[in-house]
Amino acid sequence: MPVNKESYNKIQTQLKERQITLIAVSKTKPLEDILELYNEGQRDFGENYVQELISKYEQLPKDIRWHYIGHLQSNKVKYIAPFVHLIHGVDSEKLLSEINKQAVRNNRTIPCLLQIHIAQEETKFGLDETELKTVMARDENGDYQHISVKGLMGMASFSTDMQLVRKEFKQLKRIYNKFPQFDTLSMGMSGDYIIAAEEGSTMVRIGSLLFGSRN
Ligand SMILES: *Cc1c(COP(=O)(O)O)cnc(C)c1O
Repeated sequence: MPVNKESYNKIQTQLKERQITLIAVSKTKPLEDILELYNEGQRDFGENYVQELISKYEQLPKDIRWHYIGHLQSNKVKYIAPFVHLIHGVDSEKLLSEINKQAVRNNRTIPCLLQIHIAQEETKFGLDETELKTVMARDENGDYQHISVKGLMGMASFSTDMQLVRKEFKQLKRIYNKFPQFDTLSMGMSGDYIIAAEEGSTMVRIGSLLFGSRN
C-alpha cells in the first residue's frame, strides 16, 4: 500500500494547531516508504524492533530522529544507545539502570519516557502511579544521571468505547501534571489520536493512517 500523503498533511495540520509532535510509526515498512515521508519534511520516526531499527538507522539519512516505541529488553539497550533520540516505553528500574549504563558508555544522556499502565488489559506494560513515584525519587536521588526523564507514555485500551479511551487519557494527563519538570506526554495512535490531542497529548505515534495497515 502506498504512503498516504493526504492523510499525512491532514494530520500534521491538525497537530500543528496544538503544537503536537507527530511520530511516524514505520515498523515493518520499507525504506522507500520512510523516505517518501522524509521528503515531505517528516523527521521523527518510531520503531518497535531493535534489529529493524538498527538496519534502518544505518541505511537512512542521519538527521532522522529515531524513537524506540516498543517494549525494550535490557540486553538490547546497547544496540540503540549510541543513536536513539527518545525511548518511549521504559517500564522498570532494571531497564533504567541498563539505559543509564549504556548512556555512560556512549558518553551521552539518553532521553526517556516512562510508560504508565492506563489500559484495562492485563497485557499492556507499564508502571502504576506508586512505582512511578519510586522511580522519580530514585532519579532525584541521582541514580540515573545519564537519563533525562522527559515525561510519560501510555496506551489506552484497544477498544471502540471512546469514552473509556478518553477516561484513560485523562488519567494519564492527571498523573503527568503532577510532575512540572515533564514536557513530553506521548499518547495517541491512529485510532485515538484526536481524543489524545484533546486530552493534552504533546506527541502522537501514528502508523497505519500514514503507511497503511501492517501484515
Ligand atoms: C504500532 C504502534 C503504534 C502505531 O499504531 P497505529 O495504530 O498503526 O497508528 C503506536 N504506538 C505503539 C507503541 C505501537 O506499537
